[in-house]
Amino acid sequence: MKKTICFFALTAMLISQAKVEAQVSADSAITKLKEGNERFTKGQTLHPNQDFKRIKEVANGQKPFAIIVGCSDSRVPNEIIFDQGIGDLFIVRTAGQVSSYASWGSIEFGNAVLGVKLIVVLGHTSCGAVSAACKIPDVPGHIVTLINAIKPAAELAKKIPGDLVENAVKINVAMEVQQLQALEPVLTKAIKNGSVKIVGAVYNLSTGQVEFLPDNYLETIQN
Ligand SMILES: [Zn+2]
Repeated sequence: MKKTICFFALTAMLISQAKVEAQVSADSAITKLKEGNERFTKGQTLHPNQDFKRIKEVANGQKPFAIIVGCSDSRVPNEIIFDQGIGDLFIVRTAGQVSSYASWGSIEFGNAVLGVKLIVVLGHTSCGAVSAACKIPDVPGHIVTLINAIKPAAELAKKIPGDLVENAVKINVAMEVQQLQALEPVLTKAIKNGSVKIVGAVYNLSTGQVEFLPDNYLETIQN
């Protein structure tokens, strides 16, 4: 009898722990990312969840706390810059973090199935894809898809003072945030019922710092 009670108590405890893990709020997730990036830039990395024990822990299921929609650039390795480990981040990466159907399905999966409450669109300074969209060079094959998607951000950046590419990087991130916020039906519903938050951020290739953009970034530059 005692063994049975212990078994049920243990099971209840594990279920409750799993629920707690699955319910990391968007704001707590942002804090975790900010703290991890601060450790990274200060040379105080903890390299959490990167050992064999962690592999065993997550072998039968994942509960990442943030979805990162980032650029494929090799200088922006998400787990390293946020000082996270195995099973922490659900990541979708394409050049210029341009999203299309497969990316959208992956992001929706992260939110609707895995229960992740935070989506971060992560651009970076000196992005090659954004730079190309500002110059519109003659490019081969499907690269033109990236340029066409980023072009509206590049055009808007041309109308404001400051560095063209760096402004276009931020505008592109902000526009991608808006695009995801309006993506029917999964994300619009999740935003409506408060089960997801979508924010933009830019990683600085020179300093290693991630700057989170204000929600009204596009309004601030257009006024
Ligand atoms: Zn890039």
